[in-house]
Amino acid sequence: SDVSNIRNFCIIAHIDHGKSTLADRLLEFTQTVSKRDMKAQLLDSMDLERERGITIKLNAARIMYTADDGETYQLNLIDTPGHVDFSYEVSRSLAACEGALLVVDASQGKLGTRVEAQTLANCYLALENNLEIIPVLNKIDLPAADPERIAEEVEATIGLDCTEPLLCSAKAGIGIKEILERVVKQVPPPPAPTGGPLRALIYDSFYDEYKGVVVYFRVMDGAVKKGDKVQFMASGAQHEVIEVGVRTPAEVVLPDGLSAGEVGYLVAGIKDVMDARVGDTITNARLPDGVQVKPLPGYAEANPMVFCGLYPVDASDYESLRDALGKLKLNDAALAYEPETSSAMGFGFRCGFLGLLHMDVVQERLEREYNLDLIVTAPSVVYKAVTTKGAEITVDSPVKLPDGDKRKSVSEPYVRLEILTPQEYTGTLMELCQNRRGELKDLKFLTPTRGSIIYDMPLAEVITDFFDQVKSRSKGYASMEYSLTGYRENDLVRLDIKINGEEAGPLASICHRDQAHQRGKQLTEKLKQLIPRQMFRVPIQACIGAKPVASSSISAMSKDVLAKCYGGDITRKKKLLQKQAKGKKRMKAMGKVSVPQEAFMAVLSLN
Ligand code: GDP
Ligand code: MG
Repeated sequence: SDVSNIRNFCIIAHIDHGKSTLADRLLEFTQTVSKRDMKAQLLDSMDLERERGITIKLNAARIMYTADDGETYQLNLIDTPGHVDFSYEVSRSLAACEGALLVVDASQGKLGTRVEAQTLANCYLALENNLEIIPVLNKIDLPAADPERIAEEVEATIGLDCTEPLLCSAKAGIGIKEILERVVKQVPPPPAPTGGPLRALIYDSFYDEYKGVVVYFRVMDGAVKKGDKVQFMASGAQHEVIEVGVRTPAEVVLPDGLSAGEVGYLVAGIKDVMDARVGDTITNARLPDGVQVKPLPGYAEANPMVFCGLYPVDASDYESLRDALGKLKLNDAALAYEPETSSAMGFGFRCGFLGLLHMDVVQERLEREYNLDLIVTAPSVVYKAVTTKGAEITVDSPVKLPDGDKRKSVSEPYVRLEILTPQEYTGTLMELCQNRRGELKDLKFLTPTRGSIIYDMPLAEVITDFFDQVKSRSKGYASMEYSLTGYRENDLVRLDIKINGEEAGPLASICHRDQAHQRGKQLTEKLKQLIPRQMFRVPIQACIGAKPVASSSISAMSKDVLAKCYGGDITRKKKLLQKQAKGKKRMKAMGKVSVPQEAFMAVLSLN
């Protein structure tokens, strides 16, 4: 088959720089979708994504474009997620492309802040994958736009040739044709097929209620068609292909088959995304004698980094929660969960996520799409402990940490963190990192006004309110990016919380011994504010083992407050009751005390 008229490309951009708008414009320009049909931002298909302005799920669209040279090209636009939690998925979708448009907002912020850490990281990923990167300076319709200086910055920070920058307004539809022409000329066609058996890279898969798992892939070698029996190399699963398709945003096209260089999806009666995970290679189930297929490089298991407990507020919702998690899991190979029972919380699940955003998204989907009221306990990283007897234990919940006299050591995950910031905020950001047990690795200035700070830091310190702090200390101008580097042994302890004399397991957290006193003080104070008054005095203690390190207490509700509730004003009473009922939704009884949802998250925002 001839691949010379195929171009596979994606768009790399920092959030809000205009990726979705540009994608829409490209589709519209090539009349793949008529203007009337076009829902805003077609590529972001989930509601949640649109609301949060993030792209979670990858998708692809085929555009047919007749260029100035008279040839008609098949352009495959592959969408990539924009958040650090999903960087593995980004790397696989980049591996499916030969080129990338780098969209940079030409109007925003001060000089030195427009190319953010996440975007840079994706650019480097694209360069590692040998992609041709084409810078596009967007939003030139805005008076503040300064494309010349931004072109200089892109050259300085990424080393891309910006002598003939593409100027564009995705919103006003300016410069769109020039972008398509540049894609055709500058993005290389796929390499010529080797003639070997099928090798296709999965860059996305999701569960569809009617079709089962829909697998998005890029064919590298060979071809695949309806009726073929295929094998997924990492999982070993074999399935017969029921449907091969290509999406244009307006419709789905069912070609006879897809061959080397092309992008599309297949359906094969697969019930579980675990069978067809992102990064896996699809090949033929039956190969000619003596022929072996090497899987495509880069496959990696998705490892949950952050764990929390999910409990239904109403114990009778347990079964529904289990079913809902099962359904989400079909669609999300990175989500992990197992039943967890806590004397304080009842029956629930310990769940693992790629990061905090992933956790947030899952929680929100459970609540919105499955109508569940949940209590979520504070997220924790995965520690490793060695007992005095020499056994190695994985600690994905603070309560699993062996007591002080039963453990030999504890290690915690570390990340390499990079913060990009205007020069004037480097001091305050370094102070922040220092407070979070960070170890300075490098500090440099990419341009005279723009710094890069690199730290080694415990992951546990990053998953609290760290990112919010980075943003607020830099007035929103700094950006950050991190990746896991390994485990390190530290002097860590479990800080237990006792409410009214009873151990509150879900409020326990692990921290460095040096931080324990300070944290205990802050936490007991915060809990005092968050837990509503009861009819009796409630002592709150923070302890290491049996030893209290801090305490506070909530005084009993006074008679006066109660009297108000039973007063004569009927509407007022109704309102109060309604308010209480609403508040009750997110409460969990611990012993005799009702603890609200916010209390479980208190540990996240102490500093
Ligand atoms: P994404 O997060 O990168 O997908 O960015 P969006 O495409 O959602 O755009 C972010 C915001 O910038 C939206 O409010 C867009 O309307 C706006 N925007 C995108 N492109 C342009 C442009 O060329 N000019 C102007 N003025 N606004 C734009
Ligand atoms: Mg978007």
